[in-house]
Amino acid sequence: MIALPSFPCFSADARSLAKSCLTKEIYEQLINLETGYGFTLHDALRSGIQNPDSSIGIYAGDPESYDLFSAIFNPVIEKYHAIKIASRPIRSDFTPADFPDPDPSREYIISTRIRVARNLNGFPFTPIISSTDRKKVEEILMRLLEQIEPPFKGHYTPAKEYPGIFDQKKGNMHIPQDKVLQNRMSFPQEKRHILLKSCFKKGDRFQDSAGINRDWPESRGVFQSNDHRFSAWINEEDHIRIISMDQGGNISEVFNRLAKALDIIERELDRQQTGFAWKDHLGYLAACPSNLGTAMRAGVHIRLPELFRRKDVLDSEAKRLRLQTRGTQGEKTEVESAVFDISNSQRLGVTERECCETLCNGICEIIELERKLQGA
Ligand code: ADP
Ligand code: MG
Repeated sequence: MIALPSFPCFSADARSLAKSCLTKEIYEQLINLETGYGFTLHDALRSGIQNPDSSIGIYAGDPESYDLFSAIFNPVIEKYHAIKIASRPIRSDFTPADFPDPDPSREYIISTRIRVARNLNGFPFTPIISSTDRKKVEEILMRLLEQIEPPFKGHYTPAKEYPGIFDQKKGNMHIPQDKVLQNRMSFPQEKRHILLKSCFKKGDRFQDSAGINRDWPESRGVFQSNDHRFSAWINEEDHIRIISMDQGGNISEVFNRLAKALDIIERELDRQQTGFAWKDHLGYLAACPSNLGTAMRAGVHIRLPELFRRKDVLDSEAKRLRLQTRGTQGEKTEVESAVFDISNSQRLGVTERECCETLCNGICEIIELERKLQGA
């Protein structure tokens, strides 16, 4: 573990939200504190300090981090989600959606993926979880998922059974990307499990510095339904990422399926007298403050050849539409064959349904812009 330099601890070229919010006063107020699980300001900032290109630059080690270190977390949260904390009560809305498909003829949208991040009560988050607790988390979730009824019935694969695939670094997959992108579901049946599982890779250098990759690949794995439309990543950045995905742009159907699966999972945890970590003013809790609230990222893989040549236009449009763009293979990866991952950026202060509505409306506008540029 490196020693935390005295304030100012970030390098001159760092641009993270944590850096912009950390004053000397806050630093001195927090530097000697420790949560019940032993998480310190040092631990929270390590990734942002070691990686000057971090955009958030801070992780929580447990639910208590958000209280004990609120002097730094709150301003980061308010800046990222563009809200005032506790200015309105957290609302959840999973009522069935029927937004129109923004691309019914499938000219642009390749696939839709909606995920929520969740963490179990009673355990620290991934940056400091012990290997024993990580294993317990895996067992609780794996047992629950293996008993889930159709249409979510499926199979859990531990990452250590497929080291070659799970270990692929982001941006370096040996599986032909064109095939993945053109049409995931048309990939040969017997190989589809490999394609979808390959999305869960060992964490990047940001997660590495945060401690999230310790003991890799122990107690990590992917549950996948037999139809491949529902999956869950165990012990990636959070205890569980619950994912609904499909080819095309039927965002409502993907959302409604996620709502059903989540309801089953939550009721089962309730029956076991446990549940997901939550705070009244922050909603669902996650290791990264960008995931608080709904913890939902609803996105599409969309091919935009014209906007690929005008990335500045796409970036400013996305910002205006409260969307974010990522590379084809996830956060901090390159855009390949002009295929962007575009998703909602705000997760706290909005409902789940609103996350999807923002995506739907925004994607309609982006497609219209792409069409205009094609005709220009
Ligand atoms: P998150 O943290 O939301 O899970 P990441 O960016 O860390 O997102 O990783 C997402 C993974 O899922 C990547 O491998 C990416 O290629 C894949 N992915 C993201 N969006 C889609 C989509 N709409 N269709 C298919 N795959 C997707
Ligand atoms: Mg991620």
